[in-house]
Amino acid sequence: MAQMFRQRGHEIVDERDFADVYVINTCTVTAVADKKSRQYIRRMKKVNPASIIAVTGCYAQIRPDEVARIDGVDIVTGTNEKRALIDCVETRAKAQAEATSADADTNCRLCIHPYEELNDFEDMGIVSSRETRTRAYIKIQEGCNRFCSYCVIPYARGPVRSRSLDDIIAEAKALIDGGCKELGLTGINTAQYDMEGRDLYGASDSTAAASADSTAAVSADSTAAMSADSTAAELFGVEKAIAVINDLEGDFRIRLSSLEPAVVDSDYVKRLFKYDKLCHHLHMSAQSGSDNILAAMNRPYTLDQYYDMVNTLFEFDDCYGISTDIIVGFPGEKESDFQESCKLVSECSFCRTHIFKYSKRPLTKAADMKNQVAPQVKARRADELEKVAAQAAEGFFHINLAAARDGRTERVLIEEIVQKPDGVFLMGYTGNYIRTYIDIGPGNPSGIEPGNDSDGGLLLDQFVEVKLTGIMYDGMSAVVV
Ligand code: SF4
Repeated sequence: MAQMFRQRGHEIVDERDFADVYVINTCTVTAVADKKSRQYIRRMKKVNPASIIAVTGCYAQIRPDEVARIDGVDIVTGTNEKRALIDCVETRAKAQAEATSADADTNCRLCIHPYEELNDFEDMGIVSSRETRTRAYIKIQEGCNRFCSYCVIPYARGPVRSRSLDDIIAEAKALIDGGCKELGLTGINTAQYDMEGRDLYGASDSTAAASADSTAAVSADSTAAMSADSTAAELFGVEKAIAVINDLEGDFRIRLSSLEPAVVDSDYVKRLFKYDKLCHHLHMSAQSGSDNILAAMNRPYTLDQYYDMVNTLFEFDDCYGISTDIIVGFPGEKESDFQESCKLVSECSFCRTHIFKYSKRPLTKAADMKNQVAPQVKARRADELEKVAAQAAEGFFHINLAAARDGRTERVLIEEIVQKPDGVFLMGYTGNYIRTYIDIGPGNPSGIEPGNDSDGGLLLDQFVEVKLTGIMYDGMSAVVV
């Protein structure tokens, strides 16, 4: 959206700055997200009471009338109308300038396609610019067909629509040519990317339904980009997108934003090991450590199957970074179910665990379940799990530290220079997603001599080979080797 605004001659300013137009992209994944969206809208309006406030995203899609009633909101668009939003903003601005805002109200106040009409992958063009040089995200698909019983997202985003491989390749090439070193493949449920091949793979579950709505086509151009031994016929799902990008020339890495265990299994995970540019980090939302709760959540896997995926990753690389999401206080979650979630987090040495207190979402089955968990119980469980998650992350750091003592090195992509109480550091992430600090103070062990441009000079946005040396702040310390 930022690029499209720029292309039409508008200037993008920092969110803290005074602006004529504020575009607020909302989230509705939890009740807290709705609340934050409302607070943010009000805060922006206060910065410039005369501004145009345009609200889009999931909260706007699910509760358009509620959003439109918030004081100061001028434009509301859904999740598939980002282009329309820009048209609306320009129409509104023109009308304001000509003092005919009543007309603009009629045309632009609400622009929402209902769920049944969310059928196209909205073409936003090829993104070639980004806010930082280090990392860019390529959106490869939209929507989700899973309908987990707690989740409103399928209603907010519609069914799966996959982006064409040609567009994905074009965007990846433009970003690599622009110096980008890390491409994140993102979407609502990236594992459901173009699942037409799912049946060929032979797995059986409800995700086969995804195939009917997938739209990606493997064109002659894109298949040519695949290596000789990985033809389109042998690939399926998100692997297609990974394969074509992996084959592109250049020194860059690929990060998959998430891999949904409700869609794939350990055999699928193994298929990804051959892509050498794919980071050794996966986000796999477990959501619960209890089979009873997983069934109630409409998550079509068992705990054993989840462990299979985790073990498969650790067998491939015992330093593989795995992050997860856990919901606490899902309706019917007993103390014993919760303890199973704690056990799962502890045993899997997750590098990061995102913990959510269950909240009722509109349109979902779980919202009508009788056995809702009391707020104070959810809060206590969330606190308890936070402690377990912190220990698990520390365990993950120790696994990496032991590997480093055995001679393992990591490739860190340097993102920024940070000032900490103990000095000045280059900060970046390893492939397995460890936030890494490299001392660049006087006499530092890496021998780095910062340039005159206030910094670690040439190392910014570059890969450096490091050895991890200890646990530091929210990550690990390292020296350049
Ligand atoms: S897989 Fe489940 S949790 Fe994830 S977006 Fe789809 S419905 Fe929501």
